Amino acid sequence: MEKKWQFVHRRWNPLRQSWVLVSPHRTQRPWQGEVGQKAAPSGASYDPQCYLCPGNKRAGGAVNPAYEGVFPFVNDYAALLPDSPALDKAPVSPLLKAEPARGLCKVLCYHPDHSLTLARMTREEIRPVVDAWTQQYLEIGGLDWIQYVQIFENRGAMMGASNPHPHGQIWSTGFVPDEPAAETLAQRDHLARTGHCLLCDYVEAERTSGERIVFENEHFAAIVPFWAVWPFEVLLVSRRHLGAMPEFTEAERDGLADALKRLTTRFDNLFDTSFPYTMGFHQSPTDGGDHSEWHFHAHFYPPLLRSATVRKFMVGFEMLGMPQRDITPEDAAQRLRTSSEEHFWPRA
Ligand SMILES: [Zn+2]
Ligand SMILES: [Zn+2]
Ligand SMILES: [Zn+2]
Repeated sequence: MEKKWQFVHRRWNPLRQSWVLVSPHRTQRPWQGEVGQKAAPSGASYDPQCYLCPGNKRAGGAVNPAYEGVFPFVNDYAALLPDSPALDKAPVSPLLKAEPARGLCKVLCYHPDHSLTLARMTREEIRPVVDAWTQQYLEIGGLDWIQYVQIFENRGAMMGASNPHPHGQIWSTGFVPDEPAAETLAQRDHLARTGHCLLCDYVEAERTSGERIVFENEHFAAIVPFWAVWPFEVLLVSRRHLGAMPEFTEAERDGLADALKRLTTRFDNLFDTSFPYTMGFHQSPTDGGDHSEWHFHAHFYPPLLRSATVRKFMVGFEMLGMPQRDITPEDAAQRLRTSSEEHFWPRA
């Protein structure tokens, strides 16, 4: 185990331009908080109650087609809508500022089999999902009023996923949301100061160090970032300087499917559970600007800390001060490196 970081310190996140507090000694403390339930895998390929299974009726009344591959549709209860009324009243104070917010919310079913997850799908089954994400980014991002396409997945009840059916979401907005907006500024700033891409430089530094790399394939590197906040947070970065999925070669699309398969399998095997997470892709905004500063990556934010039932909470000092972590990113990377790529729950 890496000993050099076993003291309280803070680390800089250059991508978000913020700090994280690292307190490695806290992993020694006794646990008296919530002990959650281990997530039992679901075995049924079809659930008559599931609103995402092929042929089933959704809550809004629509009936899903008998789809055999991926299936995208507009969310029946969308948080964002294409039309937003203009705000005509002048605010009483500039501190009471509001703006219309337009957008589109779509759902993408990855596979008709209710019991699957990315971890238990094959690379060959994940590849059409990569193609669908690319197509959705192109189609939605091509609308002149859409400035950002956020593709993401909430996995597991612990992360608020309402349905275990393998699926993700695509929320697109008429503005660039805060996280990618902050990363745009940071990447632009790094490019202006050094003439280099921030994440190209970062991946090179991590490959030199080797301490936090979980695995690499020819096209992607999976890294527990130096500034990770969540216990087993992972940054999946393209090795080539790419802004968004439409720039990928065929081999890079295969490479992303391979990296997703391997990473999610290692996650599941860590605690022999269907590992919960929020994951999403950060790509170039589609606001028509020059985004040569942007480098494609995926964030995985899993909440589990010590076992299938003990999670990390973001409360107290973390809400009021700054994020804090217990196990070091180096230890987390080591745990994920030794986790198997053969799934603990093989398919029949
Ligand atoms: Zn289902
Ligand atoms: Zn780059
Ligand atoms: Zn990002």
